[in-house]
Amino acid sequence: MSDEYLVCFDTDRIKEYVFATDKLREVRGASWLLTELNSRAELGRVVRPVCPDCEIVFAAGGSAVLLAPSEAKAKHIINVVQASYGHKALTASITGAPMRLAPATKTEGFGERVAMAWLKLREAKDEKARRLLPGIESYTQPCAACERHPASRVSHLDQSAICHSCYAKRQAFDRNRDVNAPEDLNALGAVARPPGYIGFMYSDGNSIGERLKQLAGAEEYGAFADKLDQLIQKTVRDVLMLVTAGDMALSVALEITATFERDSREALRAGHLPDEKPLTLGTAVVLAHAGFPMAACHSLAGQLLKRAKQRCAEEGYRTGSLDFMVVTAAGSSDLNTLREEVLTQESFVFPRGDRQIRLTQRPYTLNQARTLLECVKAFKKARFPRSQLQYLYEGLFHSQADAIYRWVKVGGRIGKEQRDALDEFYRAFGDGDQALPPWRRDNNPPRIDHTTALADLIEAYQFVLPEE
Ligand SMILES: [Zn+2]
Repeated sequence: MSDEYLVCFDTDRIKEYVFATDKLREVRGASWLLTELNSRAELGRVVRPVCPDCEIVFAAGGSAVLLAPSEAKAKHIINVVQASYGHKALTASITGAPMRLAPATKTEGFGERVAMAWLKLREAKDEKARRLLPGIESYTQPCAACERHPASRVSHLDQSAICHSCYAKRQAFDRNRDVNAPEDLNALGAVARPPGYIGFMYSDGNSIGERLKQLAGAEEYGAFADKLDQLIQKTVRDVLMLVTAGDMALSVALEITATFERDSREALRAGHLPDEKPLTLGTAVVLAHAGFPMAACHSLAGQLLKRAKQRCAEEGYRTGSLDFMVVTAAGSSDLNTLREEVLTQESFVFPRGDRQIRLTQRPYTLNQARTLLECVKAFKKARFPRSQLQYLYEGLFHSQADAIYRWVKVGGRIGKEQRDALDEFYRAFGDGDQALPPWRRDNNPPRIDHTTALADLIEAYQFVLPEE
């Protein structure tokens, strides 16, 4: 019987490492550095000298799977990879875990065995996290960029004292920089409309783990994972997240989510998996002022992403979905408060009865999100008066009746083209028979009586470019 061992690797606390600072330069640099360290070529360079006959099944996106000829070799590989990581990324680390390949083989039950190795890896990571509870070190001067580690050298860029880790991130940024790429969020916000706003996008594949488990052999596993990685690189470039100008964010997010879904069939075929049901993405977009801390953006995006993925689950993973929010200075930074209290009947100035109302229909499926953006464009094309949108928006927070009253009133004030846009919007997101615009009757558990998409339309309004 073969004594082959699986070795799984996963980078530790990626988000903490990447978002140690708010500067796009270091965030992008950190992201690039991880991409370089996690590449198949780099992994091969590190492990070949200690184990020439090991097999790299796949390596991308912060994790890797290898096959080693024995347990001793597997452990040796783990040691050299962990050491090389600390050396180059300085504050990032990676954890590896070995597991005997048998009873699986390279052609049978491979994906399922990797899933078990992955659980073991998870345990090793938790154990490591407990041991490495961060203590507060005392040092003379903290790094000017991350304020976490002691400053140890002077940056060639701005002569500030920074730590080894941030220095390595800046170097990686310089190596990979695109001449047109902005260095910080303010530069990005300056070219966007509304001025100063950026869009922070965060996506995650649905039930990818389930598909991986179904892969029979090492070859299929590698082919599927490689194709998936290429697809992510092609669509998202920065694997973890994408920061873009505010007015581009929603359409870019939609484009990425749709492209991923369409092209995912190629990855499925590469792994010899059925391709009639494509892979889908849950996507979150946070629209915030460039001065809003990036780590906070990331945390909000994570909460939105959960909702988007929940929506995908409700749709049986047949479609991707999108959730978004606009961060305002006065607004809550807790998504649950916002969705369960602010955007409900609790906000009504004139409450009536105990009806359950939602002033949003987010998260949207991919098709719905596309329709919503089309509606915004139609409103812009018809030159719908902003003052009337504002008037409608405020009515939503008064009462259901006031929102209906204002809808009728605005209908009488505007021209035909504008009224057409308004009607088209209600045809897509309301239901003429059972409720009056802007409301839609809803019977979803937990029971919500009425919802409206009008606030979503108006909030997204300034973040959608008009049709050329
Ligand atoms: Zn630093």
